[in-house]
Amino acid sequence: MKTLIHGGRVIDPSARIDSYLDILIENGKVAAVEPELLDADERIDASGKVVCPGFVDCHVHEDPITDDGRIYADPERAVLACMLRMGVTTVVAGNCGANVCDPVDYLDMADRDGAFANVAMLAGHEYFRVLAGAADGYGPATAAQVETMTAAIRRALDRGCAGLSYGIRYTPGVNGRELVGTMSALVGTGKPAACHLRDDAAAVFGALAEFLDAARELAVPAQVSHIGSMAGFGQMEQFLAMTDAYRVGGMDVMCDCYPYSAFSTGLGSATYDDGWLDRYDCDYDALELCEGPYKGQRCTEAIFRDQRSAFPACRTVCHVMRPGEVEKALTHPAVLLASDATLHLGQGHPRAAGTFPRLLAAYVRPGKMSLYDAIEKMTTLPARWFHLTGKGSLRVGADGDVVVFDPARVADRATFSDPIRPPAGIDLVLIGGQRAAEKGRIINGTLGRAVRV
Ligand SMILES: [Zn+2]
Repeated sequence: MKTLIHGGRVIDPSARIDSYLDILIENGKVAAVEPELLDADERIDASGKVVCPGFVDCHVHEDPITDDGRIYADPERAVLACMLRMGVTTVVAGNCGANVCDPVDYLDMADRDGAFANVAMLAGHEYFRVLAGAADGYGPATAAQVETMTAAIRRALDRGCAGLSYGIRYTPGVNGRELVGTMSALVGTGKPAACHLRDDAAAVFGALAEFLDAARELAVPAQVSHIGSMAGFGQMEQFLAMTDAYRVGGMDVMCDCYPYSAFSTGLGSATYDDGWLDRYDCDYDALELCEGPYKGQRCTEAIFRDQRSAFPACRTVCHVMRPGEVEKALTHPAVLLASDATLHLGQGHPRAAGTFPRLLAAYVRPGKMSLYDAIEKMTTLPARWFHLTGKGSLRVGADGDVVVFDPARVADRATFSDPIRPPAGIDLVLIGGQRAAEKGRIINGTLGRAVRV
């Protein structure tokens, strides 16, 4: 089967291309990229459109496993379905220390049943910490437990995990010995450690140093997770300067960020432990509940106290980041676009269904960022960072994962009240050269496979 994408503006930062070219995909791979190709079984007209590598979302929380041992695959409400509809063809899941099951098993399931998008996995530190017997996130792990989890993490990395993630915020019992001990599993692999830092706002700088110092000691590449929600309260300039200083000193440091000025987490999480109102300089009404009897409403102190004990799993959205700070992050050359997508039965933060089109609509169209730079942050840079062979590129031989979008119309439409609404202007998404989604509708939800690194 030969598919030709004809007449579009092809942008591929992996090859530094920005020209009107035809792309021929054959047997799932890019076979030719030339000014005028003729021979094909199927011809897709992309005139007036941008054609680029399928988007790579390098910070995602994976869908859960169903009772019959499959990846949750609701075509409306699954995270991976939302990803595909907005043009993401590859995700890196297992972030913030969390895995929903053994990450290598997850990869096997994606290969066995197919998935809406290709899936790479990080080994989640907290997942392996609990398995090693250190179930209390607030208490330290013993030396033997650190050894057990490090060995298990090393096995997961050997079997294809793309890196290691931490959620120190959720496991504050982690100390320096455990951090360096477990991170040593990455030494020599070239794979990064990603981290949801221990603390945010005014306390973010010490938390950043804790993570980056450990990574520097081991010469491990380090990715700082969702920095908008870590330093978007007035700390961003100093925060970025600090990451720059580590990079100038010879370290590989990248950050990721989503283009929204509200974060999302469970009501019961440590984020809302005493002191959060002072930390974010806000009141209870900054907090929106996404589920339960107060769905769609802002909190009062009484509702907060009642629901936090009655329904700690309730998804929340906290409207506290400053938009200018998020913009500062996203326009920095070492910051990748990533959704931090997480949904609970289709409820949650609209970033899961809107992040990628939103960068094109809210940053590129008003001229805050060039189209080329945006696409680089969404494709080539994250694919290279995680060594995802064949992804984030349209070079000959790359996988036939392609997005065709309308640069004038592309826009996110997911909102806090309708968080899974598909975007506009993402006209066609191919995975392995086959039609996976068209105009916000899924055509084939089983083309995704595991990406082992
Ligand atoms: Zn996180």
